[in-house]
Amino acid sequence: MPEIRNRTVRYGQVVALDDVTFAVQSGERVAVVGPNGSGKTTLLRALAGPGTAVVPQNVPTDLALGCREFVMLGRTAHLSAWHAPSRADEESVDRALASVDAADLAGRRMDAISGGERQRLAIALALATEAPVLLLDEPAAHLDFRRRDELMALLARLDRTVVMTTHELPFDTDFFTRVVLLARGRIVAEGRPEDVLSSENIAAAWGVPVKLRTVRCASV
Ligand code: ADP
Repeated sequence: MPEIRNRTVRYGQVVALDDVTFAVQSGERVAVVGPNGSGKTTLLRALAGPGTAVVPQNVPTDLALGCREFVMLGRTAHLSAWHAPSRADEESVDRALASVDAADLAGRRMDAISGGERQRLAIALALATEAPVLLLDEPAAHLDFRRRDELMALLARLDRTVVMTTHELPFDTDFFTRVVLLARGRIVAEGRPEDVLSSENIAAAWGVPVKLRTVRCASV
């Protein structure tokens, strides 16, 4: 499982992560939240390594690749040099496509699908690696609320440990077992969503006064 201890990351003069210690437990679903520039992406990158698959924020829109070939890239580490994908590789890609409800996209091209479809395929690529931990960088950033709900439902169905960054509040806290709140490169609060996402904590992290209300809407 990914873990960092007393990690500091600098970009020139900028301290992006400031002495952060953080460990992910198997089966956890962690939201890393905080304002822009608070170090979320840097933390995610610091956690990346063996056993993790990173789902990037943006997949290029002009990839001249078939969707199935794109997901097969997740098998690169498993493919022996100069060999065609094995039956196990093909099966892994089939499972990954099915997991994100994208079996019907297999024959399409990456440069002729929607942003939401590209994102599902990026998740499928990560699943095809068979890594037990998914690190997702702002996966909900460009989605409307309905697509966001669908994404969270999809992630909930996957049998993976998940670490996901977001700068957007509110979000579907029911999905997460832990929330880590970052501000200026430091973890300023972490724990259960209902404890961490208090008006006080959010006001302190964002530097603006906020008052949170819980709004629940029935599903249509
Ligand atoms: P977040 O994901 O919360 O928006 P980041 O981890 O991307 O935050 O960035 C943390 C800080 O590090 C910010 O101040 C950002 O401007 C800076 N930073 C990130 N990447 C670079 C880079 N490649 N070069 C210089 N500064 C960077």
